[in-house]
Amino acid sequence: MLSHNLGYPRVGARRELKKACEQFWAGKSDRDTLQKTARQLRHQNWETQKAAGISLIPSNDFSLYDQVLDTSLMVGAIPGRYLQLLDGKTNRELDLYFAMARGIQREGVDIKAMEMTKWFDTNYHYIVPEFTRDQQFNRYSDQVILDFEDARQAGILTKPVLVGPVTYLWSGKEKEAGFERIDLLENLLPVYISILKELASMGAEWVQLDEPCLVTDLTEKEKKALITAYTTIRETVPQLKLLVATYFGALEDNLPTAINLPVDALHIDLTRGAETLPAILAEESFVLSDKKLSLGVVDGRNIWKNDFAGSIRFIRQAADVLGTDRVLVAPSCSLLHSPYDLDLETNEAVLTPEIKNWMSFAKQKLTEVAALTALAQTDFEDDERFTGNQRAIESRKTSPLIHKPDVKARAAAIVESDFERQSAFPARQQIQLDKLKLPLFPSTTIGSFPQTDEIRQLRAQLKKGLLTAEEYEEKIREEIVSSLRWQEALDIDVLVHGEFERNDMVEYFGESLSGFVFTENGWVQSYGSRCVKPPVIYGDVARPDAMTVKWSAFAQANSDRLVKGMLTGPVTILQWSFVRDDQPRKDTTFQIALAIRDEVTDLEKAGIKVIQIDEPAIREGLPLRQSAWEAYLQWAVDAFRLSAAGVADRTQIHTHMCYSEFNDIIDSIAAMDADVITIETSRSQMELLDAFAKFNYPNEIGPGVYDIHSPRVPGVDEMTELLQKALQVIPARNLWVNPDCGLKTRKWPETEAALRNMISAAKLLRESV
Ligand code: GLN
Ligand code: ZN
Repeated sequence: MLSHNLGYPRVGARRELKKACEQFWAGKSDRDTLQKTARQLRHQNWETQKAAGISLIPSNDFSLYDQVLDTSLMVGAIPGRYLQLLDGKTNRELDLYFAMARGIQREGVDIKAMEMTKWFDTNYHYIVPEFTRDQQFNRYSDQVILDFEDARQAGILTKPVLVGPVTYLWSGKEKEAGFERIDLLENLLPVYISILKELASMGAEWVQLDEPCLVTDLTEKEKKALITAYTTIRETVPQLKLLVATYFGALEDNLPTAINLPVDALHIDLTRGAETLPAILAEESFVLSDKKLSLGVVDGRNIWKNDFAGSIRFIRQAADVLGTDRVLVAPSCSLLHSPYDLDLETNEAVLTPEIKNWMSFAKQKLTEVAALTALAQTDFEDDERFTGNQRAIESRKTSPLIHKPDVKARAAAIVESDFERQSAFPARQQIQLDKLKLPLFPSTTIGSFPQTDEIRQLRAQLKKGLLTAEEYEEKIREEIVSSLRWQEALDIDVLVHGEFERNDMVEYFGESLSGFVFTENGWVQSYGSRCVKPPVIYGDVARPDAMTVKWSAFAQANSDRLVKGMLTGPVTILQWSFVRDDQPRKDTTFQIALAIRDEVTDLEKAGIKVIQIDEPAIREGLPLRQSAWEAYLQWAVDAFRLSAAGVADRTQIHTHMCYSEFNDIIDSIAAMDADVITIETSRSQMELLDAFAKFNYPNEIGPGVYDIHSPRVPGVDEMTELLQKALQVIPARNLWVNPDCGLKTRKWPETEAALRNMISAAKLLRESV
């Protein structure tokens, strides 16, 4: 029985790669320095995996930016606009690579970056391949060969990892009409075959081809493409052992396709689709073949210790049917999505030993995989690795730190009426019109104002003890007051307090809720050099004290205008955290929703009349399979409603969502029943509103009139035009005027100029109707 790993985090335990890349981009270091850091990290990763006892160690899982972008370079899918960077120049490969990832603006060249999107349902973003009708592929980058050779010289025969050809095409986008990208397979395969042949000739034994598209809804054509691809590869490179890896879900209707692929091993994710195991073991054609089955038993996307009892049961179940030598043991997916090393969490004040003992990061997961491989083949019951593991699992199951009877009782007592506002929207709208006395086309902003260096420094000084809490809060109060005066001078109708006291829209709430812990080094790559450090939800969530009331009440007391209370919604808090795996996501979300509900009603009691509950992450939580959408949307919408519905009709509830396609979920957005929704629309020239118009979306909407992602200041005319466009599909009394998103990443001067123009546009519109 072999243990193997599908991929390892590459940014470095101390985010060395991030720093090296950013130095290089800033022109503060050269190519060789960057490559040297990258090489050191690769070698460290290989050594770490070897030391942990992993038999098949991956190579080419490393990347300077993104593995899908690397694949585009491997197969020479380089959009034409970048080729000028190579013209007649040598050693420009790295410039080309980063230009594709980040765009380039220098020496008279100005080329936009390629698009970026989420890798399946993870928070990792990849660079979307661009395909044209006459797309040609040819071998361009040999990184996969070079890495294999580099490792071999260090004495490690690795298993090179490639994004599989079908998933590669699947993950891309047609840049012109008139063809389907899946039809490019025939052109693409020769490049893969050439690479695989060379790997085989260099002595590679195994190669891993990632085909996670197998856990999504595939067309018949895509299923056929998988069979064609692997039949061709098998015939042309018979000497190489092929492992096709699927992950992030169950195979479901793709199971026949997956088990019919003429390959040597199939990897399945048992943490998100355990039902695939018995289904495969019931397939005679698979059982009677000599194919190996790789069991993804250790969760590569969460930070909890594996329950060895359950995993050993899976491994033995497979081994009983297939025989020990046909079973491989692995993490569920690449460990790219796990933080590096729990051993670096040494501050017991941040992470207590009891909670730390329940956790496992990438490095610890390797040890788990190796231990499981060994334990499953012996009498494991008295082995210390097993008993120690079970003690930790038992402690987590029963710890009073996790289980709060009062929280569970409250969640169990939720009744239908808790999801309902007192009256339906039309009645609420009339009441709010009378009470809030807002003009037509009311203006507002999304919440945050520029997080200047001074603000960040205040927080750092507070953390270091250089400022007392009282001194810090006094400074924040000063910022709030000056931002209120500033908003009044601009003549904004509904003000915000500016979110100066918040580091991050999830972390801020996690810090005040029970059931959350934070790590010091638990970084996970989000895109390129950008990493996030998600909070960990380990226990029942409750709100010991009010979280924002003090700031909002202070702001409202300092202005005669309405000041919006500002909260993050339950689904977004869940989505951007590491979550419990010992209860359904829905249950955790409802607990958070109840905590937010208490905050909402406390804000109302404190005199806040407009309250915004941000849910930018609702759409990204959609399951990979469409058949699972309805159930998810049901509880996600319910969670939002639960958080919002505790207030009187006169209190106006806003929500906000960032750029996303709304077409297919517009009925769920409407079911959230927020009095006002603000959305990101300016980059799509209001086209996103079509979904709302078609649906006859009944409540009020603020379609963003300017893109806050760029320092550019849009003119009055431009915004007026967008508003006119919005008016064609939204009734005047329902239309709000606001930017696309929060302004925390902007600087003050451009923010002021843009908002001034925005208010002018709102006023012009008022005069024109
Ligand atoms: N209220 C938040 C802000 O303005 C919303 C951020 C977001 O949508 N991502 O910063
Ligand atoms: Zn936003």
